[in-house]
Amino acid sequence: MTRDSAEVSLAGINKAFGGRMVLDNLDLDLAGGELLALLGPSGCGKTTILRVLAGLETPDAGTVRISGKDMTRTPVRERGIGIVFQAYSLFPHMSAVENVAYGLKVAGTSPGKRTARAKELLETVGLGEHAAKFPAQLSGGQQQRVALARALAIEPRVLLLDEPLSALDAQVRVHLREEIRRIQTQSGTTTLLVTHDQEEALTVADRVGVMLNGRIEQLGSPQEIYQRPRTPFVSEFVGAVNRIPALRAGNEVTVLGHRMPMSNTAPELLAATGLEALVRPEDLSLLAQSRGEGIVSSMVLRGPTTSVVVEHAGSSLRVDMPSHEAAGFTLAQRVEVHTRRSSVLVDAERAA
Ligand code: ATP
Repeated sequence: MTRDSAEVSLAGINKAFGGRMVLDNLDLDLAGGELLALLGPSGCGKTTILRVLAGLETPDAGTVRISGKDMTRTPVRERGIGIVFQAYSLFPHMSAVENVAYGLKVAGTSPGKRTARAKELLETVGLGEHAAKFPAQLSGGQQQRVALARALAIEPRVLLLDEPLSALDAQVRVHLREEIRRIQTQSGTTTLLVTHDQEEALTVADRVGVMLNGRIEQLGSPQEIYQRPRTPFVSEFVGAVNRIPALRAGNEVTVLGHRMPMSNTAPELLAATGLEALVRPEDLSLLAQSRGEGIVSSMVLRGPTTSVVVEHAGSSLRVDMPSHEAAGFTLAQRVEVHTRRSSVLVDAERAA
């Protein structure tokens, strides 16, 4: 760890553009050294939060604190922040090493020192061999590595990553996100990652904030967000779900013949005429049964797991299981569908 990790606090942030509220009384705290991912659909306000924290936007109300110090009105360059954007924003006329050394040059570091530091950082991001190359001579993934090294060169207190991987190929993206996580953990830099890729958020972050319409719907560990989503939106945004008709009695529902408590009980749900339980494909299981209500209609091999699709009481249900188990089922076979859940998230029935 290069220095004490900075805590970040956004409190009561409002931001409107042209009379339209984009951030609505938003609170967000990052612990020192943590990597927090903001995940949400396009336009929900993720980038605006990052820009408010960086000082690229001034909030209409609210406070931005870094290490306890009010920085709401502090200019961008005095906040000690490193930023990596989606598009490769390297200086095209500078070599990789010059790009990385740039921030240190502005800060007045001597040429010898800054070149040494830049080379060291290029080694860290795996580009030691490419220090003399210009951006146009580097692949997209390599350019983003240079951008990361450049952002880290000034030893920022806070690192902001705005969809840094979304322009890259799937394979490069997976590799680079692991690298980012490794380097971030090593440096202990408090980091905010903005992404619309749920897998990216769940795999690299300490905590994930799922956003909708300028608000954080749920903030928690990747496990909490995936396994215990608090709202149907969060559940469906972070993974696959089956919507299965559910019959309510009090605060309990019967789903696939199993009775269990509802994990959300908003008044509008209790007033809804029809309810659906939201169950992930891996929380369903199949039993071969000649009188079963379900019929296997397709099987999709996904590598170690297989998705078995079952037509059941008018719905198509996806059941994920280890591929060696799925090998025991055949198309058109009759099956019973069970759920392993002991409580379940419900939503009002959605019109077909
Ligand atoms: P994306 O994933 O598409 O980048 P996002 O969640 O990051 O989306 P923001 O970029 O924060 O969303 O934008 C939120 C809303 O605010 C959008 O409707 C956007 O059009 C609007 N907005 C953002 N910046 C400005 C601006 N400078 N002027 C006017 N409207 C803006």
